Order: sequence, then structure tokens, then C-alpha cells
Amino acid sequence: MITNKNLIITVLMTGWLAVSCNQSKEENPTPDNNYMQLATLWYQQSAECRALYYQAYEVARFRLDEALKIPSKEKKAVVVDIDETVLDNSPYQAWCILTGKNYPEGWAEWTSKAEAKALPGAGEFLNYAASKGVEVFYITNRKTNEMEATIKNLQKEGFPMADTLHVIPRTDVSNKESRRQRVAQNHKIVLLAGDNLNDFAEFWEKQSPLARQAITDSLKAEFGRRFIILPNPMYGDWENALYEYKYGLMPAQKDSIRRKFLKGF
Ligand SMILES: [Mg+2]
Repeated sequence: MITNKNLIITVLMTGWLAVSCNQSKEENPTPDNNYMQLATLWYQQSAECRALYYQAYEVARFRLDEALKIPSKEKKAVVVDIDETVLDNSPYQAWCILTGKNYPEGWAEWTSKAEAKALPGAGEFLNYAASKGVEVFYITNRKTNEMEATIKNLQKEGFPMADTLHVIPRTDVSNKESRRQRVAQNHKIVLLAGDNLNDFAEFWEKQSPLARQAITDSLKAEFGRRFIILPNPMYGDWENALYEYKYGLMPAQKDSIRRKFLKGF
């Protein structure tokens, strides 16, 4: 039998529980990574994603052949990014969804395994370039302490020139421009491949989504020619740009920003 006294206690307890649950939610926000499910599934399971990689690297081979016909005193080079350009880290993304963890949690553990698989067409293209006397440089924002495992991973997957001379990690800034320029001092960079526009040039660095689109439009002649872009719907500066490059936002804040950017009718 529920007495008035019991009812009051129950109401008070329920209220307290509700308040304490809300408090702990705000103090210890649980990352809600479910929003990444579809993008990660597309990347891992769609044949369309594989086809896009094959298509991109086929265009790259065609453009490389064209570039090789043009004589140059300098040695020719191809510059590629690593993550989601030549190596597939989608198992790390899936792990983040399944465990509710967020980058950089678990990232060092994942790269130290050296188990990322080569993306479709990447190995064939880079080995083709190497066979034509072109030097291959991997400019990555993986850090120096990840290099040993990264080189091991690239070698295991059959990539050419996977050594400390050709794999150039991030030492200070994430901006890759100074590293590209270092390669360009002694080489003619005939082609660049990446899943992030910042893998090609620094025009897009820290720009808004609208500005990134406008810059891309102004450089449209480069794509499918010197710039070979690969698909990455899972993460990237396209997403960071939505959040104005603020990395400490709460999941609820990020969710409302994403909704704000959706264009309905
Ligand atoms: Mg990348």
C-alpha cells in the first residue's frame, strides 16, 4: 500500500535520481558515436567505396604517364598521405563507435599493431610509379613515435620506398606545406594523393565549409590531374570545419551544429 509518506519519499527519490543522472551526464559526457555508423559502414562494406579508390588510382596512373612524357631535370616524385589514402584505418573508427571512445584514445594502440590494410589500387599505383623511376613520399600527420610501426605496416602491405627517408611524419605543425616544400627542393612533384584537401596545398587550412567549397571550385582544374582525391566520409577537416576547428566540444553541441548545417527543403 502506498501511503502519503511513502509517495513523498518515492517522488523525492525519483527526483533525486533524475537530478543525479543528469548531473553525472554533464560531468562525464558519454561520447555518442552512433552518428559515425553509416559513414564507417559505407567505407567498410560498400563496393562503391572500393570502386572509387580503384577509379582514383587509375586516373593517377594515367596522369603519371602523361607527366612522365614531359622531360625534367629534376627527379620526379609522387606525394601521398597515409591514413585513408593508402592505409585503411576504418577498424579504428569502428572501435570508436563500439566502445564509445574518441580520438586520440586507442589510436596509438591501433597504429602500433601495424595491421592496417592497403586501400584498393594504392599499392599497385605506387609500385607502378616506383617502377618508372618516380620517387614516392608519404607525408603523414602520424607522429614520429609511430614511425617504426607505420613503416613496418607499409612494408607488410607491399608499398615501395617505405623507409625513414620517404615516410615524413608530423614533428610540429599539422600543416603539411613545409614538408611538401622540402620534397620540392630536389624533386618535381608531379602528383599528390590524399583524402583531405590539406594533403594538396595549404589554401584550405582552417577555412569554413563555404570557403573550402569556394577554394575547391577555383582550383577545379587540378582535380583528376595533379590532385587525386580519395573518399573519406568518416572524419576529416570537412567535419572539423563544421565545428570551426574547436576540438573540445561536447557530443550534444556537435550534434546540434551538424543539424544546423543540414540543408532541407
Ligand atoms: Mg588522410
